[in-house]
Amino acid sequence: MSNNLLTVAYIVASALFILSLGGLSDQETARKGNIYGIIGMVIAFVATALSLDLTTYGTLASVVIPGAIIGAIAASRVAMTSMPEMVAMLHSFVGIAAVLVGIANYLQQSPLTGIESTIHQIEIFVGVFIGAVTFTGSVIAFGKLRGIISSKPILLPGRHFLNLSMIAASVWLGSQFLAAENLSGLQPLLIMSAIASVLGIHLVMAIGGADMPVVISMLNSYSGWAAAAAGFMLSNDLLIVTGALVGSSGAILSYIMCKAMNRSFISVILGGFGAETNGAKVAESTEQPGGEVTATTIEDTVELLQGAKSVVIVPGYGMAVARAQHAVSELAKLLRDRGVQVRFGIHPVAGRMPGHMNVLLAEANVPYDIVLEMDEINEDFSKTDVVLVIGANDTVNPSALENPNSPIAGMPVMEVWKAGTVVVMKRSMASGYAGVENPLFYKSNTRMLFGDAKKNLDAIVAKVAHLSEESVDLRQPTKVAFST
Ligand code: NDP
Repeated sequence: MSNNLLTVAYIVASALFILSLGGLSDQETARKGNIYGIIGMVIAFVATALSLDLTTYGTLASVVIPGAIIGAIAASRVAMTSMPEMVAMLHSFVGIAAVLVGIANYLQQSPLTGIESTIHQIEIFVGVFIGAVTFTGSVIAFGKLRGIISSKPILLPGRHFLNLSMIAASVWLGSQFLAAENLSGLQPLLIMSAIASVLGIHLVMAIGGADMPVVISMLNSYSGWAAAAAGFMLSNDLLIVTGALVGSSGAILSYIMCKAMNRSFISVILGGFGAETNGAKVAESTEQPGGEVTATTIEDTVELLQGAKSVVIVPGYGMAVARAQHAVSELAKLLRDRGVQVRFGIHPVAGRMPGHMNVLLAEANVPYDIVLEMDEINEDFSKTDVVLVIGANDTVNPSALENPNSPIAGMPVMEVWKAGTVVVMKRSMASGYAGVENPLFYKSNTRMLFGDAKKNLDAIVAKVAHLSEESVDLRQPTKVAFST
């Protein structure tokens, strides 16, 4: 393929990636967005494979074919609840790829001279630095999400000083790298890679569980910049554009999430967030909510729903674990058929990744127009008869607003307790991902429906369906028999 045709293919692919991002910003166009992305990627891949630069098809096939098979198997097997771990793992691959591309690029000894050579060296050094931070940071994020590593923040004394020292050492090594001749810069490059890897570990280890969503999205952004850096090293325009799109969209998403969680963007970038809130250490926040817990039954919940005019369903991670989305959708349909106003309220970080709940509800064919964001529904709780909290915990925790010492203090939450009655479906009194006790369970208008969310919802659906059938029967005209 000629270079001109390659450029055209890259421009088309870039346009498709932009259309894809645009499509993914709305649930109704998300499918189309995905298709644009897939077509863009196929064009990008085929054009690169047919480009004049590539001659060794054997090597390409030997890495692409096994990679594609492993990727396809892993993606088709991954449970929706494990998706964030997979995303973290994929980010780590981008990071390590940037490191390896950088080192290989350096060893290839570029023919460039003067200022062009210096710029190329800087591209390599910066690319390897970002790649190494992304690689180890993502591996730690994977471990935290998997539960292999504790989600509690690990705070070393003088951690900001440590981070700054590592960055300063990397800058100094960078100057050594630029001054080195004939591959002798490999040593500072490798030492910097090791330091950046430790920095990645340290930054993410210092972040508490409740802030992991922002970290995942930040690492997404870092992986984009690492890819863009690899694009500069390889002089591949498409990789630069794609990397920049991922890097900037990841950064914007992180900013939006920080705002949604009332976190400081800079603090998250620097690491160590989720550790201190309003000057109070988390460890000191040992206040336990008090009061009585009122357990309820399936029958009482059905009765409550029967008398309700408006119901809001607030799903959380537990709905995903229980795979209860289809039962939830069925219940919503039955209640709507009975004339009840049913809406869904989604917290921006409900579940384990941004959009987790929206994807599950879309899969279960819940109409988009009844699925509302937290800001759209929060004011309506006081006018709602019944709220069903299904496997959500941190995202409905009033201590975020009421307890300044709470690790999640300041995070906007779904203010479900303002409704007439709140039914919380979960298996036990256990805390959520952030490990924080939840005073909602002790409120006088809260009823705890213990047990697996799917089992309980199936039972509720069966009873509501039965009620609906009965009321349909009642509406049938009664047949009167006349004897002649
Ligand atoms: P939480 O993790 O706070 O709570 C989920 C609840 O579901 C648990 O308390 C659990 O209680 C319950 N549960 C688990 N399995 C079942 C089941 N089979 N049936 C019924 N209930 C079940 O979830 P939220 O969605 O409210 O909050 C999300 C949390 O995850 C936040 O802290 C957020 O910061 C974090 N996070 C979010 C990410 C994102 O991008 N959205 C990424 C990473 C983390 P029990 O064990 O008693 O059943």
